[in-house]
Parts: sequence; structure tokens; C-alpha cells
Amino acid sequence: MHIVSRIMARPHGTPARGCPASLVAQYNHVVPPAASLPEILERYWGYTSFRPLQREAMDAVLAGQDSLLVLPTGGGKSLCFQAPALLRDGLAVVVSPLISLMKDQVDTLTGNGVSAACYNSSLSSEKKSEVARGVREGRYRLLYVAPERLVGEGSDGFLSLIGAQKLSFIAVDEAHCISQWGHDFRPEYRQLGQLRDRFPGVSLHAFTATATTRVRRDILTQLGLREPQELVGSFDRPNLVYRVLARAGLKKQILDVLGRHKGQSGIVYCPSRREVDALAAWLADEGYRARAYHAGLSDVERHRNQDAFLNEEIDIIVATVAFGMGIDRSDVRFVIHAGAPQSLEHYQQESGRAGRDGLEAECVLIYSAGDFLKWRSMLEKNGELSDARRALMRDMERYAASVGCRHKRLVGYFGETFGKDDCAACDYCLGELEGVDDAVTLARKILSAVARTGQRFGAAHVTSVLRGQASEQVVLRGHDQIPTFGLLGDASIDEVRGYIDQLIGHGLLRQTEDGYPVLQLTPEGVALLKDAGAEPGLSLARQKKPEKGRLPRRSKVESESWEGVDRELFERLRAMRLEIARGRGVPPYVIFHDTTLRELARLKPTSLAGLRTVYGMGTRKLDELGAVVLETIHAHAGTSA
Ligand code: ADP
Repeated sequence: MHIVSRIMARPHGTPARGCPASLVAQYNHVVPPAASLPEILERYWGYTSFRPLQREAMDAVLAGQDSLLVLPTGGGKSLCFQAPALLRDGLAVVVSPLISLMKDQVDTLTGNGVSAACYNSSLSSEKKSEVARGVREGRYRLLYVAPERLVGEGSDGFLSLIGAQKLSFIAVDEAHCISQWGHDFRPEYRQLGQLRDRFPGVSLHAFTATATTRVRRDILTQLGLREPQELVGSFDRPNLVYRVLARAGLKKQILDVLGRHKGQSGIVYCPSRREVDALAAWLADEGYRARAYHAGLSDVERHRNQDAFLNEEIDIIVATVAFGMGIDRSDVRFVIHAGAPQSLEHYQQESGRAGRDGLEAECVLIYSAGDFLKWRSMLEKNGELSDARRALMRDMERYAASVGCRHKRLVGYFGETFGKDDCAACDYCLGELEGVDDAVTLARKILSAVARTGQRFGAAHVTSVLRGQASEQVVLRGHDQIPTFGLLGDASIDEVRGYIDQLIGHGLLRQTEDGYPVLQLTPEGVALLKDAGAEPGLSLARQKKPEKGRLPRRSKVESESWEGVDRELFERLRAMRLEIARGRGVPPYVIFHDTTLRELARLKPTSLAGLRTVYGMGTRKLDELGAVVLETIHAHAGTSA
């Protein structure tokens, strides 16, 4: 495409693969004196407002006050150290755990006209010298480094390099890596506390998406933050639509989700490598552009598949939990869990990779009660099944089987109160679940089965009794002879398990926490069982059978974000973006986010002045890409007129 090749001709040539564009971009970076944060945001990022807590976090960085910012994935943490770095005097050092993360951020910054570089083990010695020279010449505003550059053996050379510069501040990204209670503990992070002694006058700022208090405390103490400003944002992700499906024909359930996301990208998480390989092969056979990712693949293959996903060569990655941090692709439109994860923390992290750009995305959990049994036996075999892990798993199990607003439950789990009654973005609030007619009678049947089996059995056994399954255990205990045997003969296992979990949620049943979880009646449960009077507030629900050919109701955020968008133009702009990205050797989301493309396809600006007002269109983007964007819009108008 001729239009693209023109803007691809960069003054310094296209950077080689694996080498950030920033290493070769040497334009002078001049921030006008007395520029303000809003001006910086507008000029370099094309953003006109702050997201929640960004202003406060940036002010702390500007004031040189130590800080900890906790925001969910996609909340906009990076901007909180990037924007102030342009206003403060000196070099900002950013500690980041992964080379791919650094590379993405540096590419994005460079594309926005901010001079930044990274210094890590992936660079050749010439590149390292080049960056070192840049640092000495004061050419960069931000320098991304791995923790081992700053602490431990072999860090002396680098420390004396930056020690000779004026540092504006040090930002520690993915700061939960410092904590053994976090997901991604990294021993090198543990030593970062030494930075305080080494650079006593430089403020430290930590950033993480991990909400638990224990991890937060760990970050504060390990880093030795001084009177830090602690900012913890809301963990709700309003643009994510959550659905939970009891597993019943996994492949068909997956195809249903994919049918709602034609040509879009997503992740399918599986609990084991074997399942990953099988599902990836099946999807490829079905004609989807899908590949596998797990720790059992060779390094080369794993990287090849990950890059293919990031560079939009494929749409779907089928993966174990090994696929995660460092995935900055912002237009992931669905995350399917083909099996329950171990904990809600895991679920929040993994599903949270959807919709980082703030546009609608769907998170579907397809689970069965057996998933948890598998986890338990696997952890037990590895000697890792602690009480804490069991409890975490039970919370996940309860979420999966619960009926009620998913957003409310998820944020509630992380200690937050959810203000809305209807999130309009989960299966419950979108009316995909149906209430049972006589919940009280149903509840009594179940409570009675628990009572009559002596409150000594788990949900699986009670379910067998209620469904009238004369299993070996049931017969052995004589439970096929009791009056509750077969009372729910028509219901599926998932349905009955779902009801049991709802009764736990309503506080009518409880599961013992020690050893094998046994169902017991709570005093409220006993009261309901004895009391002939109805309990007006009790409701129980099950999955509605979908009407043939009818798609689920759209979430509000989905309808809104597509409103007025010319889809054909959007696709053209996507193709344009892909070509620019290929030419530059960077992933497409580094060029423009989908949010920007949708706004372009909605507003269809015809002049540079019009383009300037579009979300995500900073000055450098406008200078470099404005013409090609206008030409694409123009060409589309020509063909569609
Ligand atoms: P996090 O690091 O918290 O996961 P990011 O920093 O990657 O989140 O931000 C997510 C997306 O939101 C990025 O594309 C970012 O450019 C965008 N973003 C951040 N702040 C703003 C803002 N104030 N206005 C509009 N978009 C923003």
C-alpha cells in the first residue's frame, strides 16, 4: 500500500527485531517550560482527561513523595510515571520485570515522541554502549531496566553510570513481584530495598495491580517507602462482561463465544498443557488462527507463538497460566477459561487481560465441579495443598456457582463495595439466568438431604442422593433408602451443585473448612427447615436454556462503544495499522489503540485539525501518521459513496 510505505520511511531506518525503536530514535526532546500535566497528556498521548487516581499519583511523583499506586490492569498506571517524567528534571529510572514489557512501553513512548530507552540483557554490547552514551548525554527522559541491573552482582557498572546523572525518581512497575504472597514473586525484586540507601534523595514510586493487603504491606516495607502516599483504586472493570457456564459440551460452548467475536482476538486458558495442545489443534482444524502456549514448549516455539499473537498474525492463543504478564496487547476482546482457575486472584488476573483499552470485552468461565477436585489432587500430589489454598479454591468455587451480579461479587471479594444494583455487564444482570419457581421448597429439599445424611458428607454425595444416583457410597451408607433420595431426579449435577452453593451464599448451609469439606446446616438453615412459614427473600436460579439462534443481550458498554462506528472503515483502519506496525517492527497496538480507530471510524475527520481532537492522537502521531489516516478515511469515503 503506497500510502503506508511513505510514512514508514523513518529517518533512522527500521529497527531490527528485538531492538526497541527508541535505540535508534534520537530526536531532541524539548518540553516547553512551565508545561502542565494536562498539556503533556494532550500533546504526547492525545488524552484530554485523567483516569481515577492518576492525577493524585502524578502529583506525588511531581512532589517527590514516595508512593504506591494500586489500580487494576488497564487502569492507566504507566502514564502515572511516564507523564511526570517529562516535567521533572533529570532521568526517571523504571524497574520492570520483563524484557517484553519494557520493549512495548519504550516503543509506545517513542511512537508518542517521548525519548526513552531500555537497558537489559537482550541488548548487544554495542547497543548497551549506545544507550549508556545516551544516558550520559541526557538524551532520555525514561530509562527502563531489569531489577538485576540495579542490585546484586554485576550491577556496579550500571549503578555508577546512573549514579553520575541527576535522577528525577525511580518507579518500580509490577511491584507485587517483591512479595512472596504475590503471583509472580521475583527474588531480584526482593533486594530493591537497597535503592533507598544507594539513592537516598530520590523518591521511590511503586505500581501494581495486585490488591491484597498482604502484598501491599510487603511492598511498602520491602522497598522502605517513606511516608508514602498510598493510592488504591476501584477494582471493578465495567467494560468486562462476565459469564459463567456449567460445562456441558465444551467445544460447542467455546464456538458459541467465538461466534460473537469474529475476527477479534482472545485467549483461551486451560488448566493443563495436554488440554492446551488438544484445544489449539482442534481450533486450528476448525479454521481459526490459533496457537498453543505453555511451559512445555521449547523457548523458540513459545516466543514464536506469543509474538504471532502480539503481532496479529493469529487471533487466538490457547494457554496455561504461564501466558500472562507481559501481554500488553490491548484489544483482547475475550478470555475464555476452559476450566476453573485455582483462585479468584488468578481469575481476576487472567480475565483482566481482556479489554485493556477500555472497550467492551467478554470473560467466560466454563467450569465443572470436577475442576476443583483435579486442582486439589494435583496440589496434594505436589505437597502444595495448604489450608490457605483450599480456602482460596473454595472462594473460586463459590463464585462459579453463585447467582447474582458477578461484578459485585468480584469486587466484594477484594474488599470493595459495589454501588450499582444492575451492572448491565454480566450473565445475571443481562437476564441470562432464570429464577426457580418455589425456591423455599427447593431449599428445604436440599437442607433435608443434608440433615438426613447426618451432616457428614460433602456436596458431591448430597448431590448424588438428591438426584437419586445409587452410587457405591450412597448404597453403602443406606442413603438410597431415605426419603430425600431422588427428590431432584430431573436436575443435572451442575444445577444441584449450583443450588447448594447458592444456599451456602445465603448462609443456610456451610462447608467445614478443615480437611474434607462437609456440608452442615447453619442455625438459619435449621430454622428454615423447621419453620413452615415461607422465607420471602430467598431466590435460587439456574442457567436459562438459550433460545435457538438468539444472541445474548449486548452489554451497555458494548452498544455504546460501537455507536455510530462505520465498521467497514474501522476494519480498513485496522489493516492500515497492521501495515504500519509491520513496517516498523512493532506490535499494532503500539501504533493506535482500537479506541482511537473506533473514534476515527465514528467521527471520520477530514482535516488535520479534526484529527487533532481524536482520542489518542498526540502531536507526534498527528505529524507522522495524520496524512495516512486522512487518506484511508478519504479512500473509504470514495468507495462507499
Ligand atoms: P496499566 O499499566 O494500569 O495496566 P496502562 O498504563 O497500560 O494500564 O493503561 C491502559 C490503557 O489506557 C493504555 O492504552 C493507556 O494509554 C490508556 N490510558 C491511560 N491513561 C489514560 C487517560 N487519562 N485517558 C485515556 N487513556 C488513558
